[in-house]
Amino acid sequence: QAKRDGRAHYQYYAPEMNLEMLARMHLEQRLRRAVKQGEFHLEYQPIVDMRTGTINSVEALIRWHDPEHGLISPEAFIPIAEETGLIEPLGEWILHQALTDLADIHAQGIPLCMAINISARQCINTKGISFCQTLQEALETYAISPKDVHIEITESLLIEDKPQRLQCLNTIKQLGVDIYLDDFGTGYSALSYLTKCPISVIKIDKSFIENITNKQSDVKLIRAIVMMAKNLELPIVAEGVETRQQWDFLQGLDCDYAQGYLISRPLTKAHLLPFLQQAVPFQYLADNYELVKQ
Ligand code: C2E
Ligand code: MG
Ligand code: MG
Ligand code: MG
Repeated sequence: QAKRDGRAHYQYYAPEMNLEMLARMHLEQRLRRAVKQGEFHLEYQPIVDMRTGTINSVEALIRWHDPEHGLISPEAFIPIAEETGLIEPLGEWILHQALTDLADIHAQGIPLCMAINISARQCINTKGISFCQTLQEALETYAISPKDVHIEITESLLIEDKPQRLQCLNTIKQLGVDIYLDDFGTGYSALSYLTKCPISVIKIDKSFIENITNKQSDVKLIRAIVMMAKNLELPIVAEGVETRQQWDFLQGLDCDYAQGYLISRPLTKAHLLPFLQQAVPFQYLADNYELVKQ
């Protein structure tokens, strides 16, 4: 509370804070309505195997189309959904929509894996139901093999010492669903988590990929990350691969998978199908890989 002794200059910060809070509350209200009215859809971004040039998985990414304000970035609303608990109904919707689409893609004779992002709040919901139970039921409902689904978590989920969360991850892993560590290198988690938690794959954050062709320090960092992952026998996905130079550099390091605008932007399901059906979409890169290797 601002002082009431007439020294108005102590209050100069207050209006800004109120504006920020107002904007936040407004976003929260709209988000609440959006969850009720279903203003979301999913897009799918292909992930390519850098050795074979084939696309065997996609990452599901949520999109919110607000009727007044247009497309709102998940980076703006996912944190608010987490704080308000709205991530619970939203997370369930994401899971069911992604698996509905995956089952449909499989029905068309296209083999594909689906990566689904989950936030820390989703591990155990307020009713005490663990996400792994929800996941197991959903896999049964849509008759999807656990091998065809990956869960992406961020380091923040591992940072807070919550034994229930580790339990949830272990059970997911036991189901046969692999867990990917997203945005690797941006969090503050101790590296020991990599061996303590059931992580199968590391995704290097796009902020590192951005500078690999012009910043020597990032080149060194990427090399170190790739080497560490190789020693731990963890495959790597490079996020945010936008240029051929970045691709070549990563291929030279023997990086396993790439995801980014060079391969494809996130696509609606209608656009994804023809993309996947194209004859060997990344063959030219695979061919080139053989050249690079020799
Ligand atoms: P993320 O999981 O690390 O997803 C990758 C982000 O990088 C996506 O942003 C994707 O569109 C973007 N991206 C991919 N390739 C490129 C590239 O070549 N260049 C650049 N500049 N960006 C690229 P998006 O879709 O805006 O999502 C942002 C974040 O929001 C995600 O980061 C994830 O943390 C969160 N998010 C998105 N969808 C979901 C969801 O369904 N559930 C949860 N819990 N979080 C989600
Ligand atoms: Mg992700
Ligand atoms: Mg990521
Ligand atoms: Mg990221």
